[in-house]
Amino acid sequence: MTSKSILRVAINAPLSRLFDYLAVAGREALPGCRVRVPFGRRMHTGLVMEIASESDVPGDKLKEAKELLDGVPIFEEQDLWLIRFVSDYYHHPIGEVAAAAMPALLRQGKPLNSNTRFLSLTPAGAEADIDAIRKRAPKQAELLGLVMDADTISFAELDQSLPAWRRAKKALIAKSLVEEFESSQEADAMDDLANTEQEAGPTLNPDQRLALDAINSRQGFNVNVIDGVTGSGKTEVYLRLINAELAAGRQVLVLVPEIGLTPQLVSRFQRRLGLEPVLLHSGLTDTARLQAWRAARNGSARLIVGTRSAIFVPLKNAGLIVVDEEHDSSLKQQEGLRYSARDLAIARGKKLQVPVVLGSATPSLDTLQRCRDGAYHLVNLPVRAGKAVPPLMRLVDLTRYDAYDGLSEPVIAAIEKHMASGGQVLVFLNRRGFAPTLICSGCGKIAECMRCDSRMTVHAGSSMLKCHHCGAQRAIESECSDCGATCRPLGHGTERLEDSLRSRFPQEEIARIDSDSTRLKGTMSRALAMATAGDTRIMVGTQMLSKGHHFPNLSLVVVINADQGLFSTDFRGSERLAQSLVQVAGRSGREERQGEVIIQTAFPAHPFWNELFKRGYRGVAESALAERENASWPPFSRLALIRAAATSRRDAHNFLETARRMADSSGIEGVRVLGPVSAPMERKAGRYRAQLLFQSRQRANLHRLLGSLRSGLEGNPEARRVRWSIDVDPIELF
Ligand code: ADP
Ligand code: ZN
Repeated sequence: MTSKSILRVAINAPLSRLFDYLAVAGREALPGCRVRVPFGRRMHTGLVMEIASESDVPGDKLKEAKELLDGVPIFEEQDLWLIRFVSDYYHHPIGEVAAAAMPALLRQGKPLNSNTRFLSLTPAGAEADIDAIRKRAPKQAELLGLVMDADTISFAELDQSLPAWRRAKKALIAKSLVEEFESSQEADAMDDLANTEQEAGPTLNPDQRLALDAINSRQGFNVNVIDGVTGSGKTEVYLRLINAELAAGRQVLVLVPEIGLTPQLVSRFQRRLGLEPVLLHSGLTDTARLQAWRAARNGSARLIVGTRSAIFVPLKNAGLIVVDEEHDSSLKQQEGLRYSARDLAIARGKKLQVPVVLGSATPSLDTLQRCRDGAYHLVNLPVRAGKAVPPLMRLVDLTRYDAYDGLSEPVIAAIEKHMASGGQVLVFLNRRGFAPTLICSGCGKIAECMRCDSRMTVHAGSSMLKCHHCGAQRAIESECSDCGATCRPLGHGTERLEDSLRSRFPQEEIARIDSDSTRLKGTMSRALAMATAGDTRIMVGTQMLSKGHHFPNLSLVVVINADQGLFSTDFRGSERLAQSLVQVAGRSGREERQGEVIIQTAFPAHPFWNELFKRGYRGVAESALAERENASWPPFSRLALIRAAATSRRDAHNFLETARRMADSSGIEGVRVLGPVSAPMERKAGRYRAQLLFQSRQRANLHRLLGSLRSGLEGNPEARRVRWSIDVDPIELF
């Protein structure tokens, strides 16, 4: 079979290989084009990765691709390279990687370019008083609300979500509150976003100047790490670098953690760079995502700011990749294709020969070690820019002071003081709900999840018990089903803390900001706007509030409970704890007022505190690195996990025993295999979970072993009874 060309196609299925098809009769397909192909019993959308002249599949078995979906490849060679690289490095089926690299609509076989009509908000629409409109024209208000939420929304989506919306559209257009536009072919809406005036930035301080000059002195691919305390002006340095790239006509990709993509950041980019960044994040509609993706691909999007999956977006003319808060765990995808967007940024930068800049106030130990090795370049911004001074930090010893409803006397006194002097307070507790436990006052029985080895969290607002691991919920039992005595909530979550703050400080404006209170669209941005404006005086929040936000009036940060982190079984425990404390502390005193940070602990003598207070994050990092070097943990070795979950414990363990035997008999040296062991929370959502850990100082050997296990296990009959995955460079060991 050499007369016709053979398409080697990646298909979204859990198999590591490409599948051969005969080309569509009379159409020339190139690598990077999508095709419709028969696979199993259905037609699938696949991506042509290669063209070959021969196939190992016998001629009469070879099927024909039915339809060529793209006249022009949607991915260029460098994008296909990334798909292959990710599949190889993470030992993940290539078709699933290709699927992850595409927006949903392309994955479904929809055309790259279509004449889609959209409605978008006009500036007048953005200011419109929707409540006033609702009184006279509810349908118009409803439509306007949808457009407000989405900014831009396609006719197709409106047809689905709001029947008979077209009349309301006419009325809103007549009032100039919305406008209609068509996005067709390569001309994208992104071009319409007129460039605006660029606001001048502050004069760089000497540290920033040094950092910028150092980064600019290097050409081509290199990795720069900006290690700068919160407020030291890292973003200011990014802005200068980005501006220069944009001026030279190149594109810039900025990756941020999930909760780092704040309106504040976006508007700052816009004001300073004079153009609207194109956003890529999970909150976009499928149409908006495709539109953004297409604009990045065709070059009309010049600045792309996105969360981790944006690392896959094709770029026509890349000049720079920035990864902000590079230590943040949300840059690593924790399910399915488990990739690190930060690590891929570096791989991609190398491929594209463009510089990569990583920034953080608390760089990960992996990154710090790469700087020590000389692989990355470290630049420091040791002091806060502008007039802000570092916050004062102290501990409150919970063994000496009682805590009433979670708040100790010194904390209450401090909140009073900051309220009296016009400050603003953030109370941080990384536990949502009312209480983490419901306990029977008679027999001590604890409410547990039926499907997980975990306790149910008490949610008072909804009067429910919820499992934070599987989402199960049921009504709160007020009496014990075993002994009939009263059940009581034990411990504190953000809901309970909010209550106790309200009773202590009834005259103050208090807001809880966590994923429960901000579930409804728009509530998060409203809550943040009130907090930023200083209208909210006391905020209670989870991790969601600890990063990225800039609250100008914030003067006191209280950490209710840091102790879980002190005794973590994960070797990354102290790194994580130090990062989270330093990040949340960094929220306070960002402007002229000196900030204060109070941390409640029942273990004030723990050596961690001494390290953190005497030598700061760097101190914690250095001693943790020394420990890890002794124990041969990353970054001094490489890890990988094979995880398995099954409805029976036996199946999960048997599968991993098989994997272990394969590893033991592989003949590949220098890789330690540990396990299989059950996960500490063994049962989750009704499945038993176990894992096998691989540790090696030789990356090549580890990868060779994983590659051979992947192909061996894929064909193994036991694999059908488990869900299994390989996690390369895991950041959670369980
Ligand atoms: P980071 O990203 O490190 O948290 P930012 O770049 O956001 O720091 O800067 C913190 C604050 O200091 C911002 O309000 C910023 O406008 C201001 N700032 C940054 N650099 C300077 C400078 N050189 N002079 C004055 N103010 C500055
Ligand atoms: Zn559960």
